[in-house]
Amino acid sequence: MIVSQEPFDRLCDEIEDTGLAAFDTEFVSESYYQPKLCLVQLATPLGAYLVDPLTVPDLSRWWDLMIDDHTTIIVHGGREEIRFCQRYAGEMPRRLIDVQVAEGLLSRGYPLAYKNIVNKVMGVAVGSHETRSDWERRPLAPKQLEYAVEDVKFLPEIWNRQSQTLDKLERLDWAFAEFERLIENIRLEKDREGWRKLPGVLRFSAREQAVARALHEWRDRVAEEQDRPPRVMFRDDMLVDLVKRMPKSVQDMNLTRGMQRRDYQSYAEEIIRVIQDAATSAPSEWPQSFMNRANPPLDDVLAKLLSLALANRCAEMNLSMSLVGTMADIDELVRWHVFDKQQGELPKLMSGWRADVCGDLLTDLLDGHVSLRVSNPRSDAPLRFDRRS
Ligand SMILES: [Zn+2]
Repeated sequence: MIVSQEPFDRLCDEIEDTGLAAFDTEFVSESYYQPKLCLVQLATPLGAYLVDPLTVPDLSRWWDLMIDDHTTIIVHGGREEIRFCQRYAGEMPRRLIDVQVAEGLLSRGYPLAYKNIVNKVMGVAVGSHETRSDWERRPLAPKQLEYAVEDVKFLPEIWNRQSQTLDKLERLDWAFAEFERLIENIRLEKDREGWRKLPGVLRFSAREQAVARALHEWRDRVAEEQDRPPRVMFRDDMLVDLVKRMPKSVQDMNLTRGMQRRDYQSYAEEIIRVIQDAATSAPSEWPQSFMNRANPPLDDVLAKLLSLALANRCAEMNLSMSLVGTMADIDELVRWHVFDKQQGELPKLMSGWRADVCGDLLTDLLDGHVSLRVSNPRSDAPLRFDRRS
C-alpha cells in the first residue's frame, strides 16, 4: 500500500511511461454530502498497487494523467470513478475504457459483475466484495486489501482480450462510442436539475413544482453546509409530502407524519418560509413544465412487438439488449417515426452503431414491410423477420 507522496509520484511516472492504467476506487457515500474517496487501486501491466488517499497528500498527478491524451484508463462499471475524475481533475477523462460496457457488446448479460467478467474472459475465480465493507477504517483488514487488489489486477488483460474480439467482430468503434456516451451521460447529470427526480414529480402542478424545486435547493444547500447526504438529512418522501400539503404554519406542518423529529423541527420555520416564498411567487418564475407536450398514449402492442424484434436481433448478434435500448428508447423511436413525422433529432435507436443493429428492422416493422414467423423455437433467436416483397 502506497501511503506517502514520493512512491505515489513514482507510480504515476510508471503509468505515464506505460500509457495505460487500470483504476478502481473504494469510497464511503452514506455519511457525507459527496462520496468520500477512501482507497485508490491502480494497475499497470507490470503490477497492481493500492494507494491510501487519506495519507497521500496530493493525488493531482493521477488526476492529470486521467485527463491527458496519452494515458488509457481502464475501469469496470466506472461511473463513480468518472465522477471522482470530474470532481478532482475538473474535467472528464479523455481515454477511458469500461470493460463492463465492452462486455455488453460481446455477450448478453450487461451489466455483468466484475467477478463474472474475470471468470468469463480470464477463466479465473475471484471473490466478491463484502457488500458493507467499511473502507474508511484504518488499518484496512487483510481481506479488504486482497479484494481491492483483485479489483484492478485483471483489468488490463481483460481489455486486451476484449479488444481483440471486438476488433474481429468490427465492434471496436461501437465500444469507443459507448465509452463516450457513458462519460457524456455523467456530464449531463450535473446539469440535470435534481428536483425533477423526486418521486411523483411528473404529476405535480406548476405551483407544486415551484415548491419542490425550492425545497430541493434548500435541502441541498443545508446538506452541503453540514456535509451530510441530502436524503439522509431530510427524506425525499417527507419533502414530497410537504410539497403536496404546502403548510402555512409550523403547526400546520407538524400534522405531517414524521415531522416531529427533533432535527426536522429545528428547520421548521425555515421550511415554512421556503414553501411560502415559492408558492406565492409569480407563475412566470415557476419551472417550465416538462410534460407540456401532449403525448398520445403509445400503443402497448406496438411497443411490445418492437421490443420482441429488438430482443431477437440482440440474440442473433450476441449483444446485450439492456445496453442497446430500453422500453423508453423504443417509445422514443415509435413517437419519432409515427407521430413526429420523422422530424427533429434522430432517436437513440437510429443513431450511431445502433442504427446498424436495429434501426431499419424497427422502422420496417412499423411501416408494415416485414412479416414475422417463428423459424426455430429451440434457438435463442427463434424469430425470423422477412421483408415482404
Ligand atoms: Zn472495487
